[in-house]
Formats: sequence, C-alpha cells, structure tokens
Amino acid sequence: MNSHNATGMSRRDALKTLGAGVVLAGTAGIFSRTQAAEATGMATRADGVLGWELPELPYGYAALEPHFDARTMEIHHTKHHQAYISNARKLLEVHPELLAKGPEALVRDLASVPEAIRTGIRNNAGGHVNHAFFWRCLTSSPTQPGARFAELLAKSFGSIDDFKKQFADAAMKRFGSGWAWLVVTGLENASTNRLKIVSTANQDSPLSEGMTPVLGLDVWEHAYYLHYQSRRADYVNAFWEVVNWKQVEQNANQVMRG
Ligand code: MN
Repeated sequence: MNSHNATGMSRRDALKTLGAGVVLAGTAGIFSRTQAAEATGMATRADGVLGWELPELPYGYAALEPHFDARTMEIHHTKHHQAYISNARKLLEVHPELLAKGPEALVRDLASVPEAIRTGIRNNAGGHVNHAFFWRCLTSSPTQPGARFAELLAKSFGSIDDFKKQFADAAMKRFGSGWAWLVVTGLENASTNRLKIVSTANQDSPLSEGMTPVLGLDVWEHAYYLHYQSRRADYVNAFWEVVNWKQVEQNANQVMRG
C-alpha cells in the first residue's frame, strides 16, 4: 500500500500514530480511500468507498419534512448532486487513471490533477464528495449527541449550545455559496487531533486542506431557497432537527484517538 494522505504518511503509519484503539472496520472513513484505486462506476463499493454514481439516500425525499422539504431534497439530490457527478465524469473521460482513483482521492490531492481540469475537479468532484457526505449526516429519526461525544463537544466549544451557535455562525457568515463544517484537525499527531468549526466556499472540501469532516451543512441557496427563500438562519435552525448524531460521532471516532 503506497498511498499517502495529505500529511505524507502512509496509511500504515497513520494507523500506528492513531493507535490501536481507532475504529476502522466497516466504515466509509477517510482511510479507506486508499482502496479507491479499484473504484468502479458504482455509487459506493462493498467497502463503502464512494464511486462515480449518485448514491441513494438512506431515507425518502419527504422523510425530513417539515424541516427539509421533499421537493428541495429531490431536486438537490437528482439534479444538483447528479450534475456534479456528470460534470466530473466528463472531465475525466480522457483520464481513466484519475477516474480509477475515485472522487475522494482526487479531492484529497488536487495537486495530482492536471491544471487544465483542476478547478473543474475541485468544484465537481468536490460537490459530489460533499453531498454524498452531507446526506449521511441527516436522518428522519431525531437523535441527540451521545454522552461521550456531547462531552467532547462541550470540551471543545464550551457546551453543546455554544457549539451550535458557533457552527450556525460559520454557516451564516459564509458569504455566497459554501459549507459549514465540524472537522477533525491535527491528524498528523494523535495527541493534537481536535474538533474545529470551519467553513468553505463553493464546493471546496475540508479534505483538500488535510481536515476530516465529521458534520457538514450545505449553505448554497439551492439547499433551502424553495422552502426558506432568503432565510438561511431558519434553514440552519431546522438543520439541528435532522442531524444524525450517531453518524457524526461515528465519523469522529474513525479518525480521533479513542
Ligand atoms: Mn448542494
């Protein structure tokens, strides 16, 4: 295995650094990206690595009503998300070796993408990876952060309410189109990894900056305009009603020291 992550560590070194307690089995976590070399056209492979087809939502379009409306969900998934995939595939038609790496690997290493298509891949493979991640952060069954993760949030941000405020602030202050994220940073050293709130413009992914997203919120107008029009704050508030905290915690557990 000779793939390297953004910090230049091999997967094996990264695992060593993170310690034996880290949970990896059966996850679609960042470290499984090294297996993406055999990526097929499937939405996700058996091991959970994202491919180049539109992944099915783990719930129906109406499942997140009244918080996220069915019409928005359907257009968002079948039109916007699909368009990112179609655009990326078109750009990669003459680059089968890049296609085979899979979307996450390209987003993690944009420097490996030829300059002529780099911006297109950043936007469109980025859009694909971000949306595939976003859908999995949502659920129709209300959840709360588990005790252990709640404690981590409180330790990192003051309290869960403080975390929500700071996250919402990042979502509101992102001018124009982009994303708010809860990420894990400092992965190069198990003792320094920590949670952080960031936002990105357009379809830029935290993965491109060596950060691992554990929760993301799409604040493009296409994500909320039909239902909320210009009221992004109402959309951000509604988001908390549909967050899949179990998934979020799992996302964090995959990369943080246990
Ligand atoms: Mn979107």
